[in-house]
Amino acid sequence: MRRQKSECCGCGVCTAVCQYGAIRMTFDKEGYAYPCIDRKKCTGCGRCREMCPIGNSISMPEPEHRCFGVQAKSDNDRIESSSGGVFPVLARKVLSQNGIVFGAMMESDGAVRHFGAQTPEEVERLRKTKYVQSEAAGCCRQIFQSVREGRQILFVGTPCQCSAVRRYVGEAENLLLADLVCYGVPSPVKWGKYIKELEKRYQGSFESISFRDKREKDNGHTIAVRIDGREYTWPIGEDCFCNAYFCNYLLRPSCYMCRFCTMERESDLTMGDFWGIDKVRPEWDDGMGTSLVIVHSKKGMALWESVREDFRYFECRDEDILQPRLQSPTAHPGWRREVFFRLCRILTLDTSGRIMRRLVKR
Ligand SMILES: Cc1cc2nc3c(=O)[nH]c(=O)nc-3n(C[C@H](O)[C@H](O)[C@H](O)COP(=O)(O)OP(=O)(O)OC[C@H]3O[C@@H](n4cnc5c(N)ncnc54)[C@H](O)[C@@H]3O)c2cc1C
Ligand code: SF4
Ligand code: SF4
Ligand code: SF4
Repeated sequence: MRRQKSECCGCGVCTAVCQYGAIRMTFDKEGYAYPCIDRKKCTGCGRCREMCPIGNSISMPEPEHRCFGVQAKSDNDRIESSSGGVFPVLARKVLSQNGIVFGAMMESDGAVRHFGAQTPEEVERLRKTKYVQSEAAGCCRQIFQSVREGRQILFVGTPCQCSAVRRYVGEAENLLLADLVCYGVPSPVKWGKYIKELEKRYQGSFESISFRDKREKDNGHTIAVRIDGREYTWPIGEDCFCNAYFCNYLLRPSCYMCRFCTMERESDLTMGDFWGIDKVRPEWDDGMGTSLVIVHSKKGMALWESVREDFRYFECRDEDILQPRLQSPTAHPGWRREVFFRLCRILTLDTSGRIMRRLVKR
C-alpha cells in the first residue's frame, strides 16, 4: 500500500479488493480520500498492494497507437459535450449492444461518482467534464459481475481509474476502457465548500453546473450554474474554483507526479480536447469543440471503426495533438499550494483566491 500521499491516486480499488473489509476511504484535511486500514481485520494477504495502479504498471501488448482529430456530426452531440462529442457516440454504440456505460455523474448536491448507465437517458447524466475527483470504486464489483455475464462494458474515467479497473477485472474482450487526457483532479471537499459559497451568493439551493458551456461558441470556456431554477453564467477565467484548479493549487498530490501523462496508456482509447486545432485545421475551429482520439489497442480500433461514420475526422501525427498533459504531469506550484489551503481553512475560496493573486503578483 502507499507510503506517501503522492503515491495514492485515490482510486479506491484497494477497498473493493479487500475481502476482509479492512480498508475504508477517509478524507484528509485537504479533502482528498485515502485508504485507512483496520489492522485488526487485515490478514496481510497483499491483494491491495498488487491491485494498486500506482507503482504497478501493466505492460501493454500493443504499444502502437493512432491519433485522430474528431468532431461528432450531430450538433447536439457536440453542444451537450465538453469537447468534440466523442463520448455520447461511443456510449450509444455500447448501449445498442445491450451494454453498460460507466462514467462520472454529478448528484444534485454536487457529489461526483461513477454510475453504470443502461439507457440513453442515464447516459445523458454522464456527459460533460466535471472538474472534481469522482468516486469510482463503488462500481468495481458491478463491472466485474457484468463482464463475467458477457455484457459489453465501456468504462470512461481518468487514466488512473481505468488502470485500476483493468487490474480489478482483468483482461476481457468485452471490457473497453476509454481514459481522458488528465490535468489532475481537485478536492471533492473543497468543491463541496464552493457549492455552499455559490448557494450563499445566489440565495438558493444548488441544482447543477456545466463547467464547459458552449453557448458563447468559445470552446466551452463558460460556466453555467443552476440555483433554484435560475441560471447564472460567467467566463471560466472568472470562476474562483476553476482559477484555483488551473493555478494548480487544488490538485491531488499524486497528480503532480502522474505516470499517465504520456501518449502510452493502459486503456483501449484516449479522449481529450484537440488543443491547437486552430493551427492544424483552422477551418474546423468553430468554437463548438474538437476532440482528440488516440487508439491504443485492437479492441479500441474495432470500436473506433464501428462509430467513425458518425464523425468528421482526420488522422494526424503525434506532434499535432501533443499538449502538455500528454508529455508530463501538471507542475507543482510550490509554496502557493500550502498557502492556498491554509487560507481556505478560514476564508472562502473566493477571498483565498483574491489574496493569492495579490501574493503571486508581488
Ligand atoms: C478532471 C478532468 C481533467 C481533464 N483534463 C484535460 C486536459 O488537461 N486536456 C484535455 O485535452 N482534456 C482533458 N479532459 C478531458 C476533456 O475535458 C473531455 O472530458 C474529453 O475530451 C471528453 O469529451 P467529449 O466531448 O468526448 O465527452 P463528454 O460528453 O464531455 O463526456 C465526458 C466524459 O468524461 C467523463 N468524466 C467527466 N468528469 C469526470 C471525472 N471527474 N472523472 C472521471 N470521468 C469523468 C464522463 O463520464 C464522460 O464519459 C479532462 C477531463 C477531466 C474529467
Ligand atoms: S493486505 Fe489483504 S487483508 Fe490486509 S488490507 Fe490488504 S487486501 Fe485487506
Ligand atoms: S489502490 Fe488506489 S486508493 Fe488504494 S492505495 Fe493504491 S492508489 Fe490509493
Ligand atoms: S493526473 Fe494522474 S493521478 Fe491525477 S487523476 Fe489524472 S490520472 Fe489520476
